[in-house]
Amino acid sequence: MKTSIVGFPRVGKLRELKFVTEKYFRDEVSEQELKEEGRKLREEHWTLQKESGLDYIPSNEFSYYDGVLDAAVLFNIIPNRYQELRLSEQDTYFAMARGYQGDHGDVKALAMKKWFNTNYHYMVPEIEDSTQIRLAGTKPLEEYKQAKDLGIETKPVLVGPFTLLKLAHYLGEKKAKDFRDDLAASYVELLGELADLGAELVQLDEPCLVKDITKEDLTLFLQLYSTILEKKGSLKILLQTYFGDIRDCYQEIVGLDFDAIGLDFIEGKKTLELLRNYGFPKDKVLFAGVINGKNIWRNSYEKSLHILKDLESKGIQTVVSSSCSLLHVPFTLENETKWDRSITEHFSFAKEKLSELADLKKLTESADYEKEESYQKNVALFAKDRQAEDPAVQARVAAIKESDFTRLPAFDDREKVQKERFQLPLLPTTTIGSFPQTADVKAERTKKKKGEITEEEYNTFMKDKIAECVKMQEDIGIDVLVHGEFERNDMVEYFGENMSGFLFSEKAWVQSYGTRCVKPPIIWGDVSRKNPITVTWSSYAAGLTDHPMKGMLTGPVTILNWSFPREDISIKESTYQIGLAIRDEVLDLEKNGISIIQVDEAALREKLPLRKEDWYTDYLDWAIKAFRLVHSGVKPETQIHTHMCYSEFTDIIRAIDDMDADVITFEASRSNLEILDSLQENRFQTEVGPGVYDIHSPRVPSEEEIYAALEKMLAKVEKTKLWVNPDCGLKTRGNKEVKPSLENMVKAAKRMREAIQ
Ligand code: GLN
Ligand code: ZN
Repeated sequence: MKTSIVGFPRVGKLRELKFVTEKYFRDEVSEQELKEEGRKLREEHWTLQKESGLDYIPSNEFSYYDGVLDAAVLFNIIPNRYQELRLSEQDTYFAMARGYQGDHGDVKALAMKKWFNTNYHYMVPEIEDSTQIRLAGTKPLEEYKQAKDLGIETKPVLVGPFTLLKLAHYLGEKKAKDFRDDLAASYVELLGELADLGAELVQLDEPCLVKDITKEDLTLFLQLYSTILEKKGSLKILLQTYFGDIRDCYQEIVGLDFDAIGLDFIEGKKTLELLRNYGFPKDKVLFAGVINGKNIWRNSYEKSLHILKDLESKGIQTVVSSSCSLLHVPFTLENETKWDRSITEHFSFAKEKLSELADLKKLTESADYEKEESYQKNVALFAKDRQAEDPAVQARVAAIKESDFTRLPAFDDREKVQKERFQLPLLPTTTIGSFPQTADVKAERTKKKKGEITEEEYNTFMKDKIAECVKMQEDIGIDVLVHGEFERNDMVEYFGENMSGFLFSEKAWVQSYGTRCVKPPIIWGDVSRKNPITVTWSSYAAGLTDHPMKGMLTGPVTILNWSFPREDISIKESTYQIGLAIRDEVLDLEKNGISIIQVDEAALREKLPLRKEDWYTDYLDWAIKAFRLVHSGVKPETQIHTHMCYSEFTDIIRAIDDMDADVITFEASRSNLEILDSLQENRFQTEVGPGVYDIHSPRVPSEEEIYAALEKMLAKVEKTKLWVNPDCGLKTRGNKEVKPSLENMVKAAKRMREAIQ
């Protein structure tokens, strides 16, 4: 059997792309130097894949920021406000990604959204009525040619037209179908040019097919592809799906003239059933995604071969593939120097997954694979005791009662008690928790890690930072303060490091958005809290001010979702274990006089199943409960806040209210405050702070802009329930923009208070 991957990490083995791009942003390297690094990285990645023996090597999944943005630009989906800046092509692209403030003008970035159920973010293309879709670029051609010149045949990868139209926002009257024909024609043109260069097979990614598909969606898909498939000539088309199964349209899809179809056998829980019930055409190739592109555990060859052999026995032409792009796993285990072999032998990052594919290829070709050494070693690995269990933790989870999920008294009563206690003004101002992680802060943490400074020196430094931060917030006039989270490298890693059951890599970076990468912890075993984690810092900060100081924790669902989860126990079980640990921390903070505690569930929406029918049965049923478990033990006068990144929760708004927090802050500024209608319609009871400005961009919002946002909010949210805050933590920003931004925020809030008093 031949082998394939859907895509490969772009940022490089040691995040080279991130660093050079950021240098470009700071004007430290030229566009030419940036592009040179891009070429170099692509060459390295292709060579590595080629040497591993991979048969279908992807190209054009490389990107300087995001693949959906690349596709938008490729097809001239560039809103006027960016064109009007009259920047170079490259800088127009980055203006769309990051916003632009300078000599050429002042525009916000495109909206950014989570890529399906991952922690990767894509830029949302905006289509205006005046948008003229046409083939306007050459990126896929250039990258294909670059590989070809190196003697490497690749399979160009494109975001498919259906997914592109489905993900786009339509600003005017026109809708997806109005752009259908132009887009289909542009793909035809592009595919023709790729074929002329010698491409044999092109991969069109259509992950939108794994979501709920309406009749109209299917019609759109069929219309787009009838044009494309009719004109493909001798070029072969691989329709690639991932992140689930295509249960809504399987029969229609396999009936079309695709040469190959990629299906996900990891997250596609109905993929096998679909194949069993409806078969798979003998004249097409099935790219079987059996290697998990999202997790770092070794593949079970026994399981994979079971599937692959079954497909073979049915006479289906099969290629072994990853379940999705390897973009979602780190580059290589080779960067990890501290782990013992007894740990690393269980893991497989992107590069190692290539060797798993090579193994599977050999095993499928073997007369008796069970006798092969690679197979036997793999079976033995899965039989090993990893020493990951803690009976005490398991017993505690087993003893959780229904009443442990309910906080008393009910919301309205608590709200009264808390208004009485805190005496905050209308539209109280606050921030999400972190303040800029400046170079000195990062350096200090590194020094401590390396043992270059004493605990005491470190603590003194952090205390000074906290004091400075508290003072700054007081000066600006913020009502509910935070300590700034300087001691935290990352909101999940910090807690993981203070609990048992987690493992941390040195360099296992995964791209989150643009040049931002995260290093997710690995949940290795049963989880418990070793000691109080945040109490000392929060108490110290609280002692510096008369304002309420928020204690700041990360919630269990987010810790789970931003880690690589275990595959040997259920995710629900792991999350409850973490929930109990965070519950202990909440109660310790309360005991130490912290009156407001924020439990961030930044990533709650992220792992919501992509299909509605699975929402409550596979996820929300336990995820919301895990959050409630964390705070159900506090007193009525203790105020529980939560924060969620991205406001795309209109569809699960009741579940969010049902988390039963007292206040929720979230991102709304980038998605045009759509969420507000839904809050109003659903009589959302939790007090809300829909972010009044976008912290993902370095631009400083004006007071007027924030005031205008507040006006919009007040049209939909009762004034007694509205909070004023930025849309996320400030750690990635600089003090240069943070201070003026917060000042404008407080001014706008004060002015609005006067107006509505
Ligand atoms: N409290 C965290 C911070 O302010 C929340 C971060 C997040 O939502 N991603 O950084
Ligand atoms: Zn956030």
